Amino acid sequence: MSKNRHVPERSCVACGVKMPKVQLVRVVRITQGSVVIDTTGRAPGRGAYLCRIPQCWDRALGKGALGRSLGQDLSSQDLELVRTYYEENIAPQATAP
Ligand SMILES: [Zn+2]
Repeated sequence: MSKNRHVPERSCVACGVKMPKVQLVRVVRITQGSVVIDTTGRAPGRGAYLCRIPQCWDRALGKGALGRSLGQDLSSQDLELVRTYYEENIAPQATAP
C-alpha cells in the first residue's frame, strides 16, 4: 500500500503505546547492575523504551516498570541517572525558581 520503508516500532514500557523507535528514549542495561541512556540506539544490551510523556517517566521510575522490563531492579544510582536524564531532557522546564 505504500513504499515507505519499514519503520521499527517499540512500545513505551509505561503506557504501552507503540511508536517509531526514534521517538522513544532507550534505556539499556549494559551489564548486570549497570544502566545507561542509549542516545545512539545502538548500545548492546537489554533495552527498554520510554516515550516523552513526563507521566510515563514518573511511572517507570516510581512503580518499577523500568526495572521490570529490564529484568532487574534498578539501584538508586541507576534510578538517579535515569531521573537526571529525564529532568534535563524530558521534564517541562517550568519549575525553575
Ligand atoms: Zn509512555
